[in-house]
Amino acid sequence: MEVIRTPAAMHSLRDELRGQTVTVGLVPTMGYLHEGHNSLLKAARAENDAVVMSLFVNPTQFKAGEDLSTYPRDEERDLAIAESSGVDFIYAPLPDDVYPSGFATKVEVEGLTEVLCGSETSRGPGHFAGVTTVVTKLLNAVDPDVAYFGQKDAQQATVIRRMAEDLEFRTRIVILPTVRERDGLAMSSRNAYLSPEARERATAIWASLLETESVFSESGLDAALEAGRRHLQSAGITPEYFEARYPGTLDPAEGTGTDPILVAVAAKVDGTRLIDNILIEPSSTSRRNP
Ligand code: AMP
Repeated sequence: MEVIRTPAAMHSLRDELRGQTVTVGLVPTMGYLHEGHNSLLKAARAENDAVVMSLFVNPTQFKAGEDLSTYPRDEERDLAIAESSGVDFIYAPLPDDVYPSGFATKVEVEGLTEVLCGSETSRGPGHFAGVTTVVTKLLNAVDPDVAYFGQKDAQQATVIRRMAEDLEFRTRIVILPTVRERDGLAMSSRNAYLSPEARERATAIWASLLETESVFSESGLDAALEAGRRHLQSAGITPEYFEARYPGTLDPAEGTGTDPILVAVAAKVDGTRLIDNILIEPSSTSRRNP
C-alpha cells in the first residue's frame, strides 16, 4: 500500500494507472475507520483492479463551534486497517494543498441541501457545500470509475448523486447499507466520544426508527413519527430533527402512496451529534434496513 500526500502525486499515479487500463474504486473517508468504512472498502476491493481510499478531515464542512479540532484521528491505525482490507493507495493530502491560498470555488447543490442537516437550525447548507466541493476535488484528483458512499449519511448520498448527475461526472456512485453495532447503533467515528452511559442511551436512536416503522404499517405516518419521537424523548434525547421525506427529492413525505419513505433523525446525546435513518417501504410490511 502506498500513501500519496499531494494532489500532484495523485495525478501522476492516476496517469500511471490509466496507462495500465485498470479500473479504479475510490472510498472517501475522514478516517478513524470502523466496520462501516470497511464495508465500503471491501466492496471497492471486490469490484475494481485498484482501490484508493482518501483520508481527509475536510475543514470546510464543519461550521464554527463544531468538532473539527477534536474530530477523532489515528492515521497509523487507519493505515493498518486499510492495508488489511486490501487498499492499494491512500490519498491523504494536507488541508493547505487541497485549499491553497487564493482558493475561491464552491460547488453547491440547491434545495436538497437546505433541509434536515442543511437547515439553519442544524449544520446549515454550508456543510453540504463543503462536502460537495471536496468530493468534486477528490473525484477530479482520483478520477475513479466507481466511488462508494454509505447510506448512513442518507442526505449526503442524495446530494452527491444529484451533483454527479447534474455535472455529468462519469464516476459511478454506489451507496451501500448502514453497518450497525450489535445493539443497532449505527457505526460512526463520533461514537468514540460517547461515555458508557451515553453509548447505552444512544441505542434509542435506532430503536426509535424501528418503532416508527412498526407503527407506520398499522397507524400511518403521523402516528408513526409521533411514536418514534416519543421513544427518543423517553430516553432523554431531544432530536434536532426527526422527519419523513422522499429519499430522491427530500420533499416531505405524505405517507400516502407506495413510494419508499426515508425517516431521518439527528440528535445530540450528551453533546455528541449522531445521525441515522431508515427506509420504509409502504407497499410491504417487511423491513429494509439500508
Ligand atoms: P466519514 O469518514 O464519516 O466521512 O464516512 C466515510 C464514508 O463512510 C461515508 O460515505 C459514510 O456514509 C460511510 N459510513 C460512515 N458510517 C457508516 C456506517 N455505519 N455504515 C456504512 N457506511 C458508513
